[in-house]
Amino acid sequence: GIPTMNTTSPTIQHGIEIIESPALLQQRMLQARAKGQRIAFVPTMGYLHEGHVSLLRAGRARGDLLVLSIFVNPMQFGASEDLSRYPRDLDGDLAKAATAGTDLAFCPQPEAMYPVGFQTRVEVTEVQKGLCGDYRPGHFAGVATVVLKLINLVQPHVLLLGEKDYQQLQVIRRMVRDLALPVEVLGCPLIRDHDGVALSSRNAYLSPSEREQARSLSQALFAARAAFAAGERRRDALLDVARSVLAAQPALRLEYLELRDASDLTPPPATLNDPVVLLIAGYIGRTRLIDNLL
Ligand code: AMP
Repeated sequence: GIPTMNTTSPTIQHGIEIIESPALLQQRMLQARAKGQRIAFVPTMGYLHEGHVSLLRAGRARGDLLVLSIFVNPMQFGASEDLSRYPRDLDGDLAKAATAGTDLAFCPQPEAMYPVGFQTRVEVTEVQKGLCGDYRPGHFAGVATVVLKLINLVQPHVLLLGEKDYQQLQVIRRMVRDLALPVEVLGCPLIRDHDGVALSSRNAYLSPSEREQARSLSQALFAARAAFAAGERRRDALLDVARSVLAAQPALRLEYLELRDASDLTPPPATLNDPVVLLIAGYIGRTRLIDNLL
């Protein structure tokens, strides 16, 4: 059925307790902590796919109470971005979340998270620079601010995030260390579709032909990985291998293709010694896609 939201008392849908009110959630989680329950938390923007479900499964194995949040956070979208058309399917999300053993879903309205007068912003000043940060000004401040607020509401012992959003994961890791937040951050592997394309809620925007074209991102990364596996350690030679794959797919409007240190995202030396991540972002039609490979 269609979930009916209630700001004063929780409802149950697909066996999941649904809470819309931040104050009610915080109170509910304080009680869970008082009972000694270990809390695992997976924040999302909804329109769940197997990538999200993999985080929920990892959380299920690490907590007594598995909490999911579904919130399309206006603060992390730029004025010209896709906030108004971001895909939503609350009933489908709850059905998928139930298969992974989710106990509770927090589904707040934007006005409840950002009431009149809200003015606080969290900036992770260095990690948010470069890569997506250069193309989405204010994005990571929006992410850091909402994740800090969600952590304060849910009070989780463990926070599960995907490596799909690699820079986001590093921003949150840095914030948690810098502000001594009492939560363990667990990064989970990027989940791909059968054809190698990284699963993303935004893939729903793609037409069948665009979906074909979207394969170029992961194919470029795979080609570089093959060269690396064959012994290539020169940074620029690896980037050239990836670029040659992209040259064959002009439909991709590339934003960036960059090699970075896997732990702190600093630029690597000309000859690689430490673990690196190859990150890519670009547009297929109107859809912005990102991918990365360690
Ligand atoms: P989103 O709903 O896009 O904000 O994503 C919510 C969480 O799911 C973030 O921690 C993402 O990194 C993670 N996630 C999204 N897509 C994938 C994927 N394909 N594999 C693994 N994690 C993912």
